[in-house]
Amino acid sequence: MDLILLGGPGAGKGTQAKKLVALLDIPQISTGDMLRAAVANGTELGTKAKAFMDAGQLVPDEVVIGLVKERLGEADCKSGFMLDGFPRTVAQGESLERTLTEAGRTIDHVVSFDVDDEELVLRITGRRTCGKCGAIYHLKYSPPPQADTCACGAVDLQQRADDNEVTVRKRLETYHSQTAPLISFYAERGLLREIKGTGLSPDGVFEKTREVLGR
Ligand code: AMP
Repeated sequence: MDLILLGGPGAGKGTQAKKLVALLDIPQISTGDMLRAAVANGTELGTKAKAFMDAGQLVPDEVVIGLVKERLGEADCKSGFMLDGFPRTVAQGESLERTLTEAGRTIDHVVSFDVDDEELVLRITGRRTCGKCGAIYHLKYSPPPQADTCACGAVDLQQRADDNEVTVRKRLETYHSQTAPLISFYAERGLLREIKGTGLSPDGVFEKTREVLGR
């Protein structure tokens, strides 16, 4: 199954992707995670990307498109993949379409998580991620089993540099102006599966996601 997860910052893409990896046994490809790894490793790409990420802006299309093209060519993507955070512009969507057509593949579903902006701000500012296993928590709505300690045992819950209120409001503006046009792009292609996530728990959203995927 070739899947795309679409939605604003904090809409649930990463959380649902982790649940879907276990259900579908296909890799999660998160461009945000790939870019953060490049920043942490101090690569040339990371240095270039960091300024855009810190400002709540998108990293230029050609940079991200190159990363994804390379990743999709790896062996574990042969029987399917789940794109989390890509495409984020219509140009990225068009490029992906060309890459897949050349490979004789097509997207099966685009799952779009729709959540009100004010809820997204609350979700993002309370988000913490385990530095060891990547588990995602929310201080209030989905707290770790013990304060500061992940279920995996690591005492390494981190807040992303761009998960503050000022940057998240910029990321929301970026989402509405540059990414939301992909909703009609994929609706026109008959691929859009919309899920209203406002007020729903991660498990509630997962149930709806399974329904739209028929799994
Ligand atoms: P995310 O983890 O998906 O929220 O992404 C974090 C940041 O990485 C975004 O705010 C962008 O600056 C950058 N980023 C991630 N994916 C993309 C993409 N497909 N195109 C451009 N920038 C991206």
